[in-house]
Amino acid sequence: MSEDGSVRDRQPQRSPESMTATTRPERGATGGTRVLVTGAGGFIGHHLVRYLKDLGYWVRGVDLKYPEFEATAADEFEILDLRRWDNCLRATRGVQEVWALAADMGGMGFISAHHAEILHNNALINIHTLEAARVNGVSRYLFTSSACVYPEFKQTQTDVVPLKEEDAYPAQPQDAYGWEKLVIERLCTHYREDYGFETRIVRFHNIFGPRGTWRGGREKAPAALSRKIAIAKLTGEHVIELWGDGEQTRSFCYIDDCTTGLYRLMRSDHREPLNLGQDRMVTINELADMIAAIAGITVEIRHVPGPQGVRGRNSDNTQLRQVLGWEPQISLEEGLARTYHWIEQQVQDTLEPAAVGLATVTVPGVGVI
Ligand code: NAD
Repeated sequence: MSEDGSVRDRQPQRSPESMTATTRPERGATGGTRVLVTGAGGFIGHHLVRYLKDLGYWVRGVDLKYPEFEATAADEFEILDLRRWDNCLRATRGVQEVWALAADMGGMGFISAHHAEILHNNALINIHTLEAARVNGVSRYLFTSSACVYPEFKQTQTDVVPLKEEDAYPAQPQDAYGWEKLVIERLCTHYREDYGFETRIVRFHNIFGPRGTWRGGREKAPAALSRKIAIAKLTGEHVIELWGDGEQTRSFCYIDDCTTGLYRLMRSDHREPLNLGQDRMVTINELADMIAAIAGITVEIRHVPGPQGVRGRNSDNTQLRQVLGWEPQISLEEGLARTYHWIEQQVQDTLEPAAVGLATVTVPGVGVI
């Protein structure tokens, strides 16, 4: 514990797949600016902390938990429940920027079954964090929204028209998760209009990569499929289950492109919501085949009933390219290979030796979008 009661963590080990030539930030110009990353124990927040540290920022991370898979790179890490106003005031003290990533969230299985909890928890987190940042004189605030804000009626076909930012209205998100994101987007906009508070709003489209949740019920499609295929490979039982007919479509964006895009948006003068994702759409069946090819096996896919989310979704990146002068660089194949190999290692480390070779494997928490 440090003098002010916060918990400091040791420096993490660098890992090669987390930094690539295309996404490595340039050092300098930050002058040790003090920033807060909320949700720093989670998938994107953890990667973002390291990205900002590499740029020279002083970073405070806050979360309900420490990062699961490696030590944080943050200068200071506080365990705080951001549903509470007093904790939000504490978290936002003495920083110039807030990167707000804390959320109660997960894959389709979780989002479609916990509406009250998600809306309640995330509304409290975001309303309190935004106001505390304003009260504490923070100069810039980034809110992480989601493609889940887009209306269900525009996503009924597998060959969906890519979603432009303006398509969010008239509003009809499928789940409470998306409604909460939409309300906080508006709150950020009103804070800027009414208080002159500088806010940035990003709408992520399916971010994936190593060191994200890969089991337990909150994992998303790339991680869930990687886990199932790794288990299939390691047990020799080449059958996996997949929710729905697998023809539902999505685009997937690798984590290093996500942190680069986030940084560019925060530094830009663009104050309206902006998509951040890839615009290459694949079916979930195709995604499974791609991962199986990386694993070096073929799998039989058994389609079973389960939540699937909207039928089709893709990002229109026209504004992204205009505003950021950039677009995601890392191919789906490359991102999946890095992710799969990391998950296969996790599975190998946790599979009980006796389970390997058994015909049937119980796989908890199947999270397929
Ligand atoms: P994640 O679940 O890995 O990280 C979120 C973190 O928030 C978790 O570590 C969790 O412990 C923390 N948190 C939850 N409740 C909290 C509380 N009361 N107080 C403090 N911390 C709390 O999710 P992620 O994928 O890293 O997502 C980060 C942000 O991006 C979230 O706002 C999410 O809604 C948004 N987003 C992510 C995706 C994606 O594909 N990963 C897509 C759309 C939007």
